[in-house]
Amino acid sequence: TLDSSTSLRIAVQKSGRLTDKTLNLLEGIGLKFDDYKRSLLVKCRNFDVELLLIRDDDIPEYVEDGVCDLGFVGANTVAEDEADVTILRGLDYGVCRLSIAAPKAGDIQSAADLNGKRIATSYPVLTRKFLESKGLSADIVTLSGSVEIAPRLEIADVITDLVSTGGTLKANGLQELETIFDSETQLVKTNKPLSEGKQALIEKFLQRIEGYQKAEKSRYIMMNAPESAVDEIKDIIPSLKSPTVMPLADNGMVAIHTVITITTFWDLMENLKDAGATGIVVLPIESMIA
Ligand code: ATP
Ligand code: MG
Repeated sequence: TLDSSTSLRIAVQKSGRLTDKTLNLLEGIGLKFDDYKRSLLVKCRNFDVELLLIRDDDIPEYVEDGVCDLGFVGANTVAEDEADVTILRGLDYGVCRLSIAAPKAGDIQSAADLNGKRIATSYPVLTRKFLESKGLSADIVTLSGSVEIAPRLEIADVITDLVSTGGTLKANGLQELETIFDSETQLVKTNKPLSEGKQALIEKFLQRIEGYQKAEKSRYIMMNAPESAVDEIKDIIPSLKSPTVMPLADNGMVAIHTVITITTFWDLMENLKDAGATGIVVLPIESMIA
């Protein structure tokens, strides 16, 4: 039987690395929440959405079971759980990798040396799949946390663990040997049947996220330049097809306004200045719709 309610329930990590960034994203797309620090189930004030704040390990299962319609969770957690959910979007936060790490200057210097060794990990499924794909056999010791001290405690010879900067590994005398899984936050959806109302709401929700992601990567730029430099400036900024060009009170000067992606912008700055652009202003964009 189809759930007739239209209110979307979204699982978010209660307290951890993904929490603030996920809540910022939700607020960035215009959702407003009352005091989410105090309650586990938080109603959105202006959108038919409620958040369920839980441990990240529980999110894939809650979404798989349809307790939550959507969830924001690390790809590592989704893959480890082998959860039956649909991945709607990859989101560029919570970026990390599951890597093999071994004691520095030990006898294990590459993945090929793993045969017959003991590997401590909180990710037995992903680790086993990696070993199988390489035709290696090793014993997996599953630990729920503090994996990085396992070699020193002689519980294991090597570990696989999540790494972002590598600082934790270094602090524990470990060196990274190989990445076995690249991860980022994912927005996942239940595969349980959803009411039409909910499906429509998810569409709307996704459109807002797309607008937010596009805006995050874009900047509104304004500059002044001699009118004679407009063609050269258009050549410098390839994405700039038809910028807004407005005459200034000063003779022969114009103001140019356009939107560009940040990845290209800083490299172009010098060229713009050389072309005669002055008073270059770069502004963030809140959202880009269509
Ligand atoms: P919970 O109490 O919710 O179970 P946790 O301790 O399991 O929290 P966190 O350490 O908050 O989880 O990490 C949540 C997610 O953040 C990870 O599953 C991973 O996707 C991502 N992440 C990004 N960088 C790192 C990192 N350096 N170490 C661990 N996780 C990271
Ligand atoms: Mg967890």
